[in-house]
Amino acid sequence: LMQLFRPLDMLGWVYRTIRQGLIDMAQMFRLIDTQIEVQDAPGAPALVIQRPTVAFDNVVFGYERDREILHGLSFEVPAGAHVAIVGPSGAGKSTIGRLLFRFYDPWSGRILIDGQDIAEVTQESLRAQLGIVPQDSVLFNDTIGYNIAYGRSGASQELVAAAARDAAILPFIEMLPQGFDTEVGERGLKLSGGEKQRVAIARTLLKNPPILLLDEATSALDTRTEQDILTTLHRVSEHRTSLAIAHRLSTIADADRIFVLDHGRLAESGSHSDLLRLDGLYAEMWNRQLAEREEVLDEAAE
Ligand code: ADP
Ligand code: MG
Repeated sequence: LMQLFRPLDMLGWVYRTIRQGLIDMAQMFRLIDTQIEVQDAPGAPALVIQRPTVAFDNVVFGYERDREILHGLSFEVPAGAHVAIVGPSGAGKSTIGRLLFRFYDPWSGRILIDGQDIAEVTQESLRAQLGIVPQDSVLFNDTIGYNIAYGRSGASQELVAAAARDAAILPFIEMLPQGFDTEVGERGLKLSGGEKQRVAIARTLLKNPPILLLDEATSALDTRTEQDILTTLHRVSEHRTSLAIAHRLSTIADADRIFVLDHGRLAESGSHSDLLRLDGLYAEMWNRQLAEREEVLDEAAE
C-alpha cells in the first residue's frame, strides 16, 4: 500500500515546488521590471551578520534621473535597537525600505549592515536576513499552512505551528475545522485585515530574520486591532533590530530613537520626549494627531 501512495506524495511535492517556483519567478519579474541594474558583483560574498546594525551613509537616490528623492541621508541603527521612521507622506520613508532590500541602488553613498556594504554582498543573502511586514500583506490562494510556510520552504509542521503561536494566530487556526489546511483567499476563508497581518507576521517569524522592517504594518487596521497587533509586533521585535515606518505617531512613541524625515532629509531625531521638547516638525505632527484623536473621541461620546 505504501508503494501506491509514494508516487502520489511525490506528485504533490513536485506540484507544490513548481507552483512555488512560479510565484518566486513572478516576484522576480516584478523586481527585474522595477530595476534591471541591481546585480550581484562578480564573486560577491554572502552577508554575514554578527551584530545586526544598519547604517545609511550619505545616501543620495531618486527613481528618475531628474528627480532626487533622498538628498544625502545618514542615520545609524544600533544592533537590537527599535527605531521609527516618521514624516509626511511622500517624504521617502518607504524608499528607505526599498533601498535596504536593495530593490534599487543609491546614486551615491552606502548602506551598511553590520559594516558590510549591501551593494557588495549577494542579494539572496541580504534578503534572507531581512523580514518585512508591509501595510497590506498578500496571501496566496492556498492553505493557511502554506501561506505561513512560504517564509521558509521545507519548514516542519512544528515550526509552522510555533510561528503561528508567536504571531498569536494559533488559537484562531485551531478553531477552524480544517486547521492549517483551511483554504484562504478567493477560494476559501476570508480573513480580516488583522488576521492577514498575523499570517504575515507568522511567515516572517518562520524566516527568523535578525532585522525587521515594518512599513505601516498596522495602519490599515482599526484602532483596537492595531493595538493587538502592535503588542504582538513588540514582542516579536524584542531580540531583533527593527525599523518601524509609521504614520500614526502614537504607535511608535516608545521607540528607542525616532528619525523624522522631511522631503528626503533627516529633519530631526531623538526619543519621543526629546522631539516634543524640540518643538519642531515632530511636535507639530504629534499635536495635530492628538487633536484629531480627541475630535474622534468627542464624536464617539456624543
Ligand atoms: P513615503 O513612504 O514617505 O510616503 P515614498 O518613499 O513612497 O514616500 O516616496 C517618496 C517619493 O518618491 C514620492 O514623491 C513618490 O512619489 C516617489 N516615488 C515612490 N516610488 C516611486 C517609483 N516607483 N517611481 C517614481 N517615483 C516614486
Ligand atoms: Mg510609504
